[in-house]
Amino acid sequence: MAKHNCAICGAEVGLLSEQKLADGNFICRKVCSKKTFKIFDKVHATLDDVNAHIAQIEKGTKIWNEVFVPLQKTKNKEEKLKQIHGLKGVLGYVSPSTGLMAFIENRYKIFIFGKSTLACVYRVADLYGYDYECETKKDSEGKEINVHYCTFLFRNTTGMYAPRIELGSSADYAQIEKYFNTLFGIQKTLRNSVNNAKRQLDAIKAAANAVKGAVDGTLDEAQAADAVGAMDASVYGDRTQWIAKADAALKPYQ
Ligand SMILES: [Zn+2]
Repeated sequence: MAKHNCAICGAEVGLLSEQKLADGNFICRKVCSKKTFKIFDKVHATLDDVNAHIAQIEKGTKIWNEVFVPLQKTKNKEEKLKQIHGLKGVLGYVSPSTGLMAFIENRYKIFIFGKSTLACVYRVADLYGYDYECETKKDSEGKEINVHYCTFLFRNTTGMYAPRIELGSSADYAQIEKYFNTLFGIQKTLRNSVNNAKRQLDAIKAAANAVKGAVDGTLDEAQAADAVGAMDASVYGDRTQWIAKADAALKPYQ
């Protein structure tokens, strides 16, 4: 039987104690694998991805303890955390006052009382997707059940940038979608279409100017960036305030 060495700690691993990564490296299940979130997809990750994810957890856990934990007890309404509804195993929290959000995994110790919490912290401004997925699985009695997920997608993020979170029901997803659409001012209903139409008009105007510039041969980079920015705002909402808040909150951790 071929023996390998853990690419992180160097421990010798075998068939039962190794986790193979996408780039052919192996890591040990006993120590190094446990430094990652259970939902982190190691099979499709390279060693660089795993190391980036471990660094993300080290930094995230520090920010969780210093920023989020005190806010869990706040009496100030503006600073309250929003727990994302209906998550299993991994819990999600949004901190609108700091522009940050976190996913946490609690590790319960068996012999020592208490728990330890691992966290990945993200900038709300980087959240560019929250999509619903449903899979049919067989439960322990062989009965088919629907399992509901929300896949969050973060830009500008290394490590775990697309956490896929299991939900209790599709109604839980509807709540998550509504919450973030509201947070970003993304309106999908006709009732709010005035705001939306104005934003789309801005986007179209900016794009038209950029195209005109390209035809005239006078397209400059600022104009092109304006066009992309306006398009983004019409689809994803205006992120300016979310960027500013997160920059301020993360300053001590740069
Ligand atoms: Zn190891």
